[in-house]
Amino acid sequence: MDAEKLSHFRNLLIQQLRQETEQVRTDQAAALELYDDGVKDSVDLSVQDLNKEIALRLGERSSKVVADIDQALLRIKEGSYGICARCGQPIDERRLEAVPTARYDAQCQSLIESANGDDDLPTL
Ligand SMILES: [Zn+2]
Repeated sequence: MDAEKLSHFRNLLIQQLRQETEQVRTDQAAALELYDDGVKDSVDLSVQDLNKEIALRLGERSSKVVADIDQALLRIKEGSYGICARCGQPIDERRLEAVPTARYDAQCQSLIESANGDDDLPTL
């Protein structure tokens, strides 16, 4: 991939990183605000716990997304960005446009997903 394209994807990733951190801050603030209002007069432990849980989960989800973006930025730096980590073939650029953090090409991704189950499912 040439330098111009790499910098295009780097910009996409940085933009995504910014959006993600802003979004999670807004969501967490909203969840915590709900938590404050809910416990002012009557101490409802289940509501309190639920809202803490929401804030926590938002943080967890975000840290996974942020870690994916960080890894993609690292691959750009190392020169392995856009190369499938499984088969070494270049990843389709249309796929990278849609999913700039993609580590595998579509074929390997679906093989991995059918082997491991959906990557986005929470691990219990
Ligand atoms: Zn592959």
